[in-house]
Amino acid sequence: MSQNLLLQAALAHARHGRAVLPVYWSRDRRCGCGRTECASPGKHPVPALAPRGVKNATTSEVVIRAWWAYAPLANPAIATGEASGVTVLDVDGDRGGFDALDELEHEFGALPSTPRVVTGRGEHVYFQFTSVHVKNTAGKLATGLDVRCCGGYVLGAGAVHPTGRIYAWKHGLGTEPIAFAPPPAWLIGRPANPRQQLSTQARPGGKGYASAALASEERELLGTPVGQRNTRLNLAAFRLARFVATEALASGDVRQSCWTSRLASAFHNVKRRRPFRVA
Ligand SMILES: [Zn+2]
Repeated sequence: MSQNLLLQAALAHARHGRAVLPVYWSRDRRCGCGRTECASPGKHPVPALAPRGVKNATTSEVVIRAWWAYAPLANPAIATGEASGVTVLDVDGDRGGFDALDELEHEFGALPSTPRVVTGRGEHVYFQFTSVHVKNTAGKLATGLDVRCCGGYVLGAGAVHPTGRIYAWKHGLGTEPIAFAPPPAWLIGRPANPRQQLSTQARPGGKGYASAALASEERELLGTPVGQRNTRLNLAAFRLARFVATEALASGDVRQSCWTSRLASAFHNVKRRRPFRVA
């Protein structure tokens, strides 16, 4: 058996059905790609091995062994979304991700028990991919919270962060792995509770659903305690942006609604630490 722990980590992911790809490593704060000004040190795909990036991710043991024979220092990354059956919430501790997550959990309830990976500066929370694509939106949900789903990737357990820290499953070795839990409703933009249930005529993805979502976001926002509104506003913008992306809600609808202008002024007030007023 190869002693290369990076290869072993990649193979372990593949055995569990997670598609992997080789990304660059980082040593002494320099990216393996050799560019001194690399924008993503130790985190971007090795083009010679994966010319189409995440699209080349695979569970093939033969391909994975060949990749790591060529680039033994490559970090194993996992293609998120349908490719591996996982949707990952990336919590960046450096950018206040844990505080933002606390606020969301305070409002919507604690996250279910599900595997987590301790990263260089935060955590990756793994959820089951439930056939609902969540747009990969860095920082849109809240500052420090990113979602990785179809078309995205995350460094997997066993990868080495530029700081030297090794990405590791939080439940540790020797304990039974727990199954990936379905993502919470707030993450995938579904109604979070019965209060938000939409009319039976509203079809998910359709115009009726989008309009109901706009109204629902407004109600939720008005019912949110002042201290949590900043995160709540980000969440609302994140979910509505997804409707705009699917054209269920014309972006003009969102921009021109008086609610959005109130949203904008609310943001302003929160930033300036003034009392929050929406009337
Ligand atoms: Zn690089």
